[in-house]
Amino acid sequence: MKKIRQPIIAVLGHVDHGKTTMLDRIRKTNVASKEAGGITQHIGATEVPIEVVKEIAGPLLSLWKGEIKLPGLLFIDTPGHEAFTSLRARGGSLADLAILIIDVNEGFQPQTIESIEILKKYKTPFIVAANKIDRIKGWKINENEPFLVNFKKQDQRAQQELETKLWEVIGKFYEMGFQANRFDRVQDFTKELAIVPISAKYGIGIAELLVLIAGLAQRYLEQKLKIEVEGPAKGTILEVREEIGLGTTIDVIVYDGTLRKDDTIVVGGKDEAIVTKIRALLKPKPLDEIRDPRFRFDQVDEVAAAAGIKIAAPGLDGALAGSPVIAARSEEDVEKAKQEILSQIERIKIESGEIGVIVKADTLGSLEALSKELQEKDIPIRKADVGDISKTDVMEALSIKDENEYLGVIFGFNVKVNEDAREIADARGIPIFVGNIIYKIIEDYEAWRKAEEEAKKRELLAQTKFPGVIKLFPDERYVFRRSHPAIVGIEVLEGRIKPGYPLMKQNGERVGVIKSIKSKSDFIQEAKRGDQVAIAIEGPIVGRHIHPGEMLYVDLSRDDVMRLVKELRNELDETDIRALKEIAKVKKQKDPFWATL
Ligand code: GDP
Repeated sequence: MKKIRQPIIAVLGHVDHGKTTMLDRIRKTNVASKEAGGITQHIGATEVPIEVVKEIAGPLLSLWKGEIKLPGLLFIDTPGHEAFTSLRARGGSLADLAILIIDVNEGFQPQTIESIEILKKYKTPFIVAANKIDRIKGWKINENEPFLVNFKKQDQRAQQELETKLWEVIGKFYEMGFQANRFDRVQDFTKELAIVPISAKYGIGIAELLVLIAGLAQRYLEQKLKIEVEGPAKGTILEVREEIGLGTTIDVIVYDGTLRKDDTIVVGGKDEAIVTKIRALLKPKPLDEIRDPRFRFDQVDEVAAAAGIKIAAPGLDGALAGSPVIAARSEEDVEKAKQEILSQIERIKIESGEIGVIVKADTLGSLEALSKELQEKDIPIRKADVGDISKTDVMEALSIKDENEYLGVIFGFNVKVNEDAREIADARGIPIFVGNIIYKIIEDYEAWRKAEEEAKKRELLAQTKFPGVIKLFPDERYVFRRSHPAIVGIEVLEGRIKPGYPLMKQNGERVGVIKSIKSKSDFIQEAKRGDQVAIAIEGPIVGRHIHPGEMLYVDLSRDDVMRLVKELRNELDETDIRALKEIAKVKKQKDPFWATL
């Protein structure tokens, strides 16, 4: 039998923009009418039956032509992009839809951007709640009013201020490639993002938010939400939890089929697929019926998608949040489920043995998201695994660092760095980039890498001599001193010279080292092609070792030339290259290495 199930909805947004307040407000959306019934609390989720939506929406439902046949809306209680990233299903997100909440007074913030990037990547349709409109100066608050009713009651200045703030948000969306508009001005919901101004704190606009979500799901996701309700269940682990008297349990969102008390389930663990028999299916007791905290749950015989349920079963210690749960009713199904789960684990966990970075994350979902992002940036991965950052990870990064200093690093999403790992990493200079915003983690790495490369280049530049060819003026008048040091007037013919550079003659014989360079009355640190300067050379005697009119060359070492052509190529201009060629001609008379250049 087919049925349309509730869409699963996730709430995302920057910290403090009101995710929790909005979910609380939805949970407390109670309707006076008996018929509508109330909100149902699931494990890890909140269900708003469609009657409730209809009741509170009233005439707003006319926003949608056509009947809404959904049974309701299932909101995942854990808000935030970390949860969203972790909760995978069918290779995408567990959530069918999302609400992105933005504090309209603060606008876009890092986690707002991260949330949008993630929603884009998972192709999850979403609507935007522009929250905290009650903070607008002079805003008249009427609790639980629909936005459009409430808006009409505001004076022009407050209305205008909201419009301005919305325009800013719309502009930011535009920059990120989205057309967005206030929901009542949207022409085509498949092309434009709908923004609902709300006050989560006072319940303003919640009515429109629910109607819009329900309408969007009905209109655009009907096919996806149509499930074979009797079939074996599929779900995703929200959380692995110790419960008094029950041992390790898993909180699961079931998104397909029906889970029965006597089903066998196959569950994703860290490295394996766990096969176990269900001991109990548990749902939360209504709050007012909990007298003893040891009896917080009621047992049920079965549960149909979409629902949040706690499963007690033996052997769940190794279960992993974000992993799949598949029910199986035959040996064959168990085998198939095992293969499916193992292949998912295998696909996401990386053990490449390549020279690359180490990646750790709290769940398979977030590991996949971070790894993907790194791969898109062409950052090779040696190992990607679930778990905190350990000493072993640091040791592995250390061995990579010997091969490639920019890849001997560790990335972590939503994980801890163990103390001993941190100590060794600090002592041995292994950078660890951790956080809960993927693009920030990668940005931090890129900034570090750039700074390292620049520092290295500066050091390289300081160590490396550049090529230069000079000519002593032919006129004796420009010999200012004959020796200790010799001071002569010269012109730089090609390339450049600096104090400290050794010079050689055309036959390759070393004549001395430049002590200083003087241009007019100033000492300078560099003279380039075309410059006419006086240089002091420690070593030669003019008239015996060097002569007016003679050409001299910077005496480069093999190391210099290797660094110049390999790592500093971009620093060489045409005249440097000509100087280098002339120097090679001089050097190859004595050293055949230079003939190979
Ligand atoms: P979260 O971090 O996104 O879950 O944000 P919270 O729901 O915890 O809200 C952060 C703060 O903003 C709390 O102090 C809330 O009371 C406050 N807040 C949330 N929604 C509103 C709102 O609509 N209006 C006002 N004035 N404050 C709000």
